[in-house]
Amino acid sequence: TLKLALTFSKFDNLRNLSKLIMETKLDILPVEKWELFPEGQRPLLIAGPCSAESEVQVMQTARGLKAAGVNVFRAGIWKPRTHPNNFEGIGTPGLKWLQRVKNELGMKVATEVASEKHIFDCLKFGVDMVWIGARTTANPFLVQEIADALKDTDIPVLVKNPVNPDIDLWIGALERLNQAGIRKLGVIHRGFSTSEKIQYRNLPGWQLAVEMRTRYPEMPFFADPSHMGGARKYLNELSQRALDLGLDGLMIESHCDPSCAMSDAGQQVTPEDFAKLIGGLKVREADSDSPEYKENIDQLRAQIDIIDENLLYILSTRMNVSRSIGRYKKEHNIAILQTSRWDAVLSQMIEKAKEYGLSAEFVSTVFNAIHEESVQEQDKILSEGVQSSE
Ligand code: PEP
Ligand code: MN
Repeated sequence: TLKLALTFSKFDNLRNLSKLIMETKLDILPVEKWELFPEGQRPLLIAGPCSAESEVQVMQTARGLKAAGVNVFRAGIWKPRTHPNNFEGIGTPGLKWLQRVKNELGMKVATEVASEKHIFDCLKFGVDMVWIGARTTANPFLVQEIADALKDTDIPVLVKNPVNPDIDLWIGALERLNQAGIRKLGVIHRGFSTSEKIQYRNLPGWQLAVEMRTRYPEMPFFADPSHMGGARKYLNELSQRALDLGLDGLMIESHCDPSCAMSDAGQQVTPEDFAKLIGGLKVREADSDSPEYKENIDQLRAQIDIIDENLLYILSTRMNVSRSIGRYKKEHNIAILQTSRWDAVLSQMIEKAKEYGLSAEFVSTVFNAIHEESVQEQDKILSEGVQSSE
């Protein structure tokens, strides 16, 4: 316990230091004062089509979503597409349709902006909120251009995470907007591009969302399970995950007839299916309402942080021992892999794991990964200098 206590305090100091270096203050207005979302709505809802395609499509989708309890209607007017010659959004004329949604249905409207021109057009047509897309957040020139264009306005801005998992780039964008006087500032987590083969369109990377939430607990936080999952079938699990992590709201793509959508057809749901999806989600106790709950969860999270850092410490200690074994084996000309020994170690661990309430499957996954890495490290040591001695 003494040793463990020592490593705890060591990491506490490290954490405080990194906080001092990293933390930037942001001046954020609570979302209740944005006058966009109905009072007490949980989760906060933003929904609408990937793209505004026609006046009929916009109005029909908006009516359906209004009936489903949505107050903030999203629609892409300018679309950042991967390939040219695809539908790149209807452009400025579509803003008239959003105006109609506002005037006839009393909803608030939001769209994605990526340039000064987009901002000026949005302001001209009374758009209530804008968001910065993932590709744009990754570009500080554009974010600065947008921030400059927004000076002296009061329009809420949501910033999606950059396509790459770089929390500082994300925070940098928030700083640029905040310095331009934007206080109605929030974030949207939509996952990250990856070359890995994964089931989702984007890698969820929830730990980055948790880190952002921990650093700026007062910042309105949305998840975009549509772009994260890339398919309707993932909406439920990803939305529930976002709520379980304590995020405030969801931005979900919905289209009156998804099969005909001109972009992101596979991930959009009808307003009726949207209503079912939201109805099926379990909303956890809002932490802001209960100081007790917040204190507890914060404490538990702090414990987890410390334990994780200790796991790293223990893993690196184990790896150092394993390297020593590698050197010993090299000196005495012993083979690295002794399968029978590893099998014995593993079954012993699995047996012990029961006492700790851990499943055999989990324990063997973890230990096999550790073992694999050890073998690789020892292999490196064994092949070191082999060529020169020949
Ligand atoms: C969108 O919301 O329509 C969009 C283009 O999302 P992202 O910037 O997350 O790719
Ligand atoms: Mn989309």
